[in-house]
Amino acid sequence: MNGMLSVVMPIYNEMRISAGVERTMNVIESAGIPYELILVDDGSTNDSWNQMTELASRYETIVAVALSRNFGKERALCAGLDMANGDCCICIDSDMQHPPEIIPEMYNLWKTEGYEVVEGVKNARIKENPLYRICAKSFYSFLKKMSGIDLQNASDYRLLDKKALEAWRSMPEKETFFRGMSSWIGFRRTQVYFDVSERETGKSKWSVKSLFALAINAITSYSSIPLYFASGFGIIFLLFFLIMLIQTIYMKVNGHAQNGFTTVIILQLIIGTVTMINIGIIGIYIKKIYEETKNRPRYIISRVVRKRGDENENNK
Ligand code: UDP
Ligand code: MG
Repeated sequence: MNGMLSVVMPIYNEMRISAGVERTMNVIESAGIPYELILVDDGSTNDSWNQMTELASRYETIVAVALSRNFGKERALCAGLDMANGDCCICIDSDMQHPPEIIPEMYNLWKTEGYEVVEGVKNARIKENPLYRICAKSFYSFLKKMSGIDLQNASDYRLLDKKALEAWRSMPEKETFFRGMSSWIGFRRTQVYFDVSERETGKSKWSVKSLFALAINAITSYSSIPLYFASGFGIIFLLFFLIMLIQTIYMKVNGHAQNGFTTVIILQLIIGTVTMINIGIIGIYIKKIYEETKNRPRYIISRVVRKRGDENENNK
């Protein structure tokens, strides 16, 4: 079908799935866009899958895919995107924090203006307290400098043309980061702004720990700057050592060598810390190499349900 849109929606333990799904379908249908909706169940432990199969057996445009366990949103997106058959695709959250109302606008930018990537960008939220805002802002701008990726306002809510999707698919890494990878591929791109609404039901699955992990992943996937820290520290300490060396020899020659205990302790501490930090940084990269070389599948599909009734199992 010409101009078909594939909408990918990852779902993990959400509450009222049909409300969001039907709202999305209404928007797309009233804009007259040919579409398919791929619902990916990321190993939910509540009745999400039942709700999804119910929807898939009711509407022909819906495909429900179940992963064999919880793989995380990134992998759920991969599964959905790999199944997409459209001429373009959009990823959208199932908790309706990404308002489906802007889908026609994104679609038209692709269809009539020829943009190949349309990024949904979050309007700044005003609710948060000022101190938190300042901290968050500097944290995100640091991240942006390090990784080249805007984690603050950028979102996974974006439209990709078929060509861009192919380019994304050709990236073999197992540890994916959709926002970063879909920026890295380039292509003609534009932005659409949207207001993040409150979650309709349930609660966010992000914890401080997982955000921190995401930040580390964003930095180490797109930048090798941290690896240069080691050499940087090394050079600074070399200078420091030379000065200390000269001073020590001078004292010795002049016959008033001091016991120097404090200096030794401080030096020990500094060297120890710097060495540890750098081994840690190198370790993170080695872990990444290790994970990639294991070459495991990004996700495992356990079931696929669509109205035509072909239910099958396969791995990817
Ligand atoms: N999600 C998922 N797997 C997970 C966690 C979340 O598929 O392990 C889905 C979730 O159902 C939702 C989207 O990813 O559709 C965004 O999740 P969430 O709302 O928890 O994140 P936030 O909006 O806080 O960034
Ligand atoms: Mg959310």
